[in-house]
Parts: sequence; C-alpha cells; structure tokens
Amino acid sequence: MRSYIIAGNWKMNKTVAESIALAEEIVAKTKGISKTEVVIAPTYLAAAKVADVIKGSNVKLAVQDIHWKDQGAYTGKVSVDMVKEIGAEYVIIGHSEQRQYFHETDETVNLKAKKVLGAGLKPIICIGETLEERNGGKLESVLTAQVEGAYKDISGEDALKTVIAYEPVWAIGTGVVATDEQAQEAQRYVRSLVAKLYGESTAEALRIQYGGSMNPGNAAGLLAQKDIDGGLIGGASLKADSFFSIIDAAEKR
Ligand code: PEP
Repeated sequence: MRSYIIAGNWKMNKTVAESIALAEEIVAKTKGISKTEVVIAPTYLAAAKVADVIKGSNVKLAVQDIHWKDQGAYTGKVSVDMVKEIGAEYVIIGHSEQRQYFHETDETVNLKAKKVLGAGLKPIICIGETLEERNGGKLESVLTAQVEGAYKDISGEDALKTVIAYEPVWAIGTGVVATDEQAQEAQRYVRSLVAKLYGESTAEALRIQYGGSMNPGNAAGLLAQKDIDGGLIGGASLKADSFFSIIDAAEKR
C-alpha cells in the first residue's frame, strides 16, 4: 500500500524570515498527521534554518535542485553533500522550470538522480508534457523519453527510493488543473513505464505525485485517483492554510 506524499515547492519565494515563519506554521498544523508524508522545499538560503525549525516534527526537508558534481568551480551551484549535511531527505530534480529556463535535460536529470541516490537521499523526479506536445499527440512519447532517460542505469532497488512527480507543464502555475481523468490516465501510463523497466511489484510500490495547480478545491478529486499518490504543490504551498488543506485531504483518504 503506497502512502501519500505531499510536497511544497516554494520556488524563489519567501525570504529566510518568511520561510522560518511558514515552516513553523506548517509544523504546528501537521502535529496530528500520521499517514501522509509532508515535505517542504524552501530556497537554499533558507534551507538550513528551516531544517532547525522542522527537527523532530512530521515535516521533512527537500531542496529544489542540486548539481551532479561533488564540488569545484560551478558558480551558483550546490552539491548533494551540502544539502545532506543540513538534513535534507529529498531533492526535486527535473522541474519543468529547470528544463525550460536552465537547460535541464533527461541526461542531467539522470546524472542528478544517480548522485542523489548515491548519497542516500531521495529524488523527486519531475516529468510532464507541454500543451503543444499533448495537443500534438506526443504525450506518451514525451513521458516515455523522460522516464527512460531519468532512470538510465538506476537499479530497481534504487528506483524504489525515488518519487515521480507527473506535472503537465500547461498546468503549472496557470490555475488550469488537469482533470482527474487526464491526470489518472497519464499517471497510469507512467506507472506502466516503470513496470516495463523494473517489473510490476516495483511499479506498484513507487509513488507518483501529481503537480500543476493542485489546490484545496481540487485535491480530494485528484488524490482519489488510483495512480495519484500525492502532490507536488507550488502556489498553494506558500500559505500554511491551503497547504494544510491538501495534506488533510490526503490524510483523510
Ligand atoms: C510546481 O511548480 O511544481 C507546481 C505544481 O506549481 P503550482 O502548484 O503553482 O502549479
């Protein structure tokens, strides 16, 4: 039985002080949460402080990216050892904004996934099609290339430690959410890809989140779908109340 994982991606929002305050509110609200895994991904700058705030709570720390190199002359980048040291458990990789604005490719997603797994952390691997690709009948071929690319040379044992976030690009930050049926259909297909790579039992155990304008109003419907095991939440994770409503919808299922 897969447990739900609800992760908040704060992106380039919140100062350090605001991040601490939001983390404190989320810690307080999630005291009674027992079945749902709750994860927050502040900016790098705030991550160490937020790690202190969530220590001993039901909330886990993620960061929004890493570089696949161990160290060196990579201005602006952060290594996996750095984020491990401050207590991060998850690393978001392959987000569509990284793919769109910062040259992330399936190859760099794979390099990062292997680096994260090698350090004993867990990647949240983001995939998803643009509207043009969906309308052009390329949904399945895009998802196939992204999943096969991300998991190249990753063992079945390691694959089980990963989470996939299916995020249709046209739904991210747009307020246009995929229908329950569209999301389920795509996520069922993603699970079938995992089954092809690693077999049915791994595919049944691996968690697949939905991301893209998930909010308190649509979360219950999406989370009720068979192949949706949680959410990667952008905008609605920036306020404790709306983020908690989504967590609560998962917890009550
Ligand atoms: C995201 O960026 O991963 C995301 C899902 O954003 P939003 O919830 O704002 O669409």
